[in-house]
Amino acid sequence: MAEELRDIEPLRPLLDRKPFAILSDIDGTLAPIVANPEDAHISPRARDALLVLIELGAGVGFITGRALEKAREIVDIPAAYFAGNHGLNIAADGLAEAPEELRPYVAWAQQVIRDASGIKIPGVIVEDKGPVVAFHYRMADEEEPARAAIERAIGLSEAARNFRVQQGRKVIELRPPIAIDKGTAVETLAMRLGAESVLTMGDDATDLDMFRGAGALRERGIPAASVAVWSYEVQPEVLEGTDYFVRGVEGVEWMLEEIVKALRP
Ligand SMILES: [Mg+2]
Repeated sequence: MAEELRDIEPLRPLLDRKPFAILSDIDGTLAPIVANPEDAHISPRARDALLVLIELGAGVGFITGRALEKAREIVDIPAAYFAGNHGLNIAADGLAEAPEELRPYVAWAQQVIRDASGIKIPGVIVEDKGPVVAFHYRMADEEEPARAAIERAIGLSEAARNFRVQQGRKVIELRPPIAIDKGTAVETLAMRLGAESVLTMGDDATDLDMFRGAGALRERGIPAASVAVWSYEVQPEVLEGTDYFVRGVEGVEWMLEEIVKALRP
């Protein structure tokens, strides 16, 4: 169960190892949640702190449900590493990589989007993320009927049966049933960054995989900890799966600035 992080001392053992890496979710962690996901922006304070951390030799990676290009656009930190689509796409050293086995899912995802377009659900935004489809219902007047309508549409789509259905914060996602998730992305990015210690941060149920990834690193002898971002809509299991929590994106801004102070010579 997470305890509130009130000063940076508990993280000191991680910060003392070089290179230290931060692997973070974006939405709800570094970018405040907004009604329309298209309007999301990274917090300028968090971005400034992350830029300084890179200058100080820290590794910075973003692990997100967003498509790779959208994630790069929101964050706008070219030197960072990225895992888009919950780890299905990796970008390291500016080069994007996508596994061959995902190709058929791009076509099936297009079919799901066509299948769902026949069913008019006001306020639902369908996001095309290549091999992943996300149905956002935060903008719907009534969330529960919108969520039920999305599930009906998914149930009627033959192409949708190729995917795994996952619920997030006001979003239902169809993802390829491939053993790649935010947890394997933690291990991949930590390895690619040559990290000697890792801090993971996230706010949502999908980030539990990331926190498990931090646990997997610890088992391999790489010190790692995880921080949850508390909000009024945080799912209890998110706090159960982490070592520490901070309050909102403001708490993340504070923590990153404290880490900058700790790493500065
Ligand atoms: Mg999030």
